[in-house]
Amino acid sequence: TFEVLVIGGGPAGAAASIYAARKGISTGIAAERFGGQVADTMSIENLISVPYTEGPKLVAAMEQHVKEYDVDIMNMQLAEKLIPASKPGMPHEIRLANGASLKARTLVLSTGARWRPLGVPGEAEYRNKGVAYCPHCDGPLFKGKHVAVIGGGNSGVEAAIDLAGIVRHVTLIEFGAEMRADDVLQKKLRSLNNVDIITSGQTTEVVGENGRVSGLKYTDRNTGENHHVALEGVFVQIGLVPNTEWLKGDIELSQHGEIIINDRNETSIPGVFAAGDATTVPFKQIVISMGEGSKAALSAFDFLIRNSVE
Ligand code: FAD
Repeated sequence: TFEVLVIGGGPAGAAASIYAARKGISTGIAAERFGGQVADTMSIENLISVPYTEGPKLVAAMEQHVKEYDVDIMNMQLAEKLIPASKPGMPHEIRLANGASLKARTLVLSTGARWRPLGVPGEAEYRNKGVAYCPHCDGPLFKGKHVAVIGGGNSGVEAAIDLAGIVRHVTLIEFGAEMRADDVLQKKLRSLNNVDIITSGQTTEVVGENGRVSGLKYTDRNTGENHHVALEGVFVQIGLVPNTEWLKGDIELSQHGEIIINDRNETSIPGVFAAGDATTVPFKQIVISMGEGSKAALSAFDFLIRNSVE
C-alpha cells in the first residue's frame, strides 16, 4: 500500500510525486505514458526560468528529477477504475488495464487532457507546422502572420482576441449560425479591426505547401459554397477533453468532465486529490500543472498526518 499514489505522469504527476517523496512517504506513480502532453510539444517558451526548451527534453528532465527520489515509477500503466476506500482510513484501490490493482491511502489524479481534433485532412500532417492548439504557447510563433481560429466558444473567442494582439489578421470560423462565447467576449472580438468572423462555416481541410500550412478550406453551410483562405496558421479551439472517462460515476466531475477540485486540490472523495489539466483548474499550462501537482501532494501529506491510523 502506497501512502501517495499518483495517476498520470505529466507535469502535474511528476511534481506531485516529487513533493510527496520529499516528505519521506512511500510514493508511486502510474502513467500510461510518462511525460503526457509535453511529449507531443515542440518548443516551450513559457516555463518560467527556462526561456526555451523542447517537449522531449523537458520530459527527460522531469523523469530524471523524479528518479532523484524514491518513487516507484510504473510507466505504460493505464488506470481503468477507481474504487474509493470503503471506510475512512482504509486504502483506495486503482484497477489497471493489465489486471493488476494498486492500493494507496491517498491518491493524486493527474491524467491530463487532450485537445479535441477537427478530424479534417491536413490537420494531423501539419500539426506543429502551422496547426496549433494552444494560443498561450504558440501565439508568438505567428507574429505578423494571418491565422484562423476554429471554434466560436469561449476558448475560441478568447484565443482570437489574444492572437489579434500578436498576429496580423485573425479569421474566426464558427460551425454554428452564431458564436457561443459569452457576450462580453463577442463584443470585444467585434471591436477589433484585424479580425473577421465567419459563422456557419465548416472547415473541410488544412492545406499546406513545402511542409507548412498555407491555407484552409471551408464550406459555407448556408449556401454550400466552398472557400479557400490563404493563411499561415490554424488554431483549433473546439474543446479540451479531460482524460477522466474512467472516473465517471466514482468521483464528481464538472459538465465538461473535469474533476471538480477546491483550492486545496480536494475532490469529492476524502483522501483523493487531483491536479492539472484533468481538473476544473482554470488555465491549462505546464507551469500551472506543476504548481497544482505540488499543491495536491502537500494536501495529501496534510491528510495523512491528520488521519494517521494507530
Ligand atoms: P498531461 O500532460 O496531459 O499528462 C497526463 C498524464 O496522465 C500522462 O502521463 C498520460 O499518459 C497519463 N494518463 C492519462 N490517462 C491515464 C490513465 N487512465 N491511467 C494512467 N495514466 C493516464 N503548456 C505550456 O505551458 N507551454 C507550452 O508551450 C505548451 N505547449 C503545448 C503544445 C501542445 C501540442 C499541447 C498538446 C499542449 C501544450 N501545453 C503547453 C499544455 C501543457 O502540455 C499541459 O497543460 C500540461 O501538460 C498538463 O499537464 P498534466 O500533468 O495535467 O497532464
